[in-house]
Amino acid sequence: MKIADTFTQGTQPISFEIFPPKGDLSLEAAHTMARELAALEPDFISVTYSAGGSGNSSATADVAHMIQAEFGVPVMAHLTCIGLTEAMLAERIADMKAKGIENVLALRGDRVAGSEAKDFLYAKDIIGSLSDEGFCVGAAAYPEGHIECEQLELSVEHLKQKQDAGAAFFVSQLFFDNRYFYRFLEACLGAGICAPITAGIMPFLGKAQIQRMVFMCGASLPSPIIKLLAKYEDDPESLRKAGIEYACAQLTDLQAHGVDGLHVYTMNQPDIACATVGALRGMRGAAFRKPCWR
Ligand code: FAD
Repeated sequence: MKIADTFTQGTQPISFEIFPPKGDLSLEAAHTMARELAALEPDFISVTYSAGGSGNSSATADVAHMIQAEFGVPVMAHLTCIGLTEAMLAERIADMKAKGIENVLALRGDRVAGSEAKDFLYAKDIIGSLSDEGFCVGAAAYPEGHIECEQLELSVEHLKQKQDAGAAFFVSQLFFDNRYFYRFLEACLGAGICAPITAGIMPFLGKAQIQRMVFMCGASLPSPIIKLLAKYEDDPESLRKAGIEYACAQLTDLQAHGVDGLHVYTMNQPDIACATVGALRGMRGAAFRKPCWR
């Protein structure tokens, strides 16, 4: 199933992100986790890719194939282009096709040592090839602008280039203040971006994790979160619970505002998916407020 179609059915698709086996996560553990996520009946599950091809480059497609074949959930395989040559891209395309994958999230990947750009500088540079090969292609969107891009307007311009190259939908970077997302949607609309943009939400689970995320992606930390971090500094269990509750509140607010879709960064922890879906499904049926940006 093409993921772009899930946005045209009059409901807000709910989706999860997981990462494939690497380090401590075995394929068996990924299987167990996929079963738990699939039981929550998401509209799709996305599987991350190791930038620069540093990990097992077919792990993403393997896990995506397993989820689709065994649990019948539509999947989206992430693919980063920063370390890819034309020949490697052709290999990845052939592998994904052989595994029945129809949806790809086209990404550049983060710049890390040993992952210099080869044949492709930007995500937009692989979108055309993927879509010519019949994939339904999504791309990343940045509600507060990409960390390397100083102006939000420029980030939006780059997003438009991805749409022009053939991206059929977008998945957003995490954010902790929904007002940034609503403003971003307005800016996108003004720039002629009409592809659906699903909102990506990641719960904060601990101080170290949130610091790492904020430094990696440049998301703003609103004061309610800083207060929670201070309040539960010595109580990791309560902080984790507060982080999940905060994410649920963000998601239900986004749902009530009628955003295109809701994507949860599960960090391979099914209880996060379970809590967020519980909060969202509890809201289903409640009247949507008129979207504020349309
Ligand atoms: P691009 O769209 O190529 O943008 C990269 C930078 O170049 C930006 O600053 C952009 O503004 C700038 N730019 C774009 N076009 C131009 C242009 N024409 N001229 C000048 N500058 C330009 N990383 C992984 O390694 N694996 C994953 O699985 C993964 N999944 C992700 C999923 C989501 C939903 C998101 C939001 C991010 C994910 N990332 C992943 C992180 C992503 O790889 C990084 O954010 C990366 O730094 C940028 O990727 P991009 O595809 O947005 O790049």
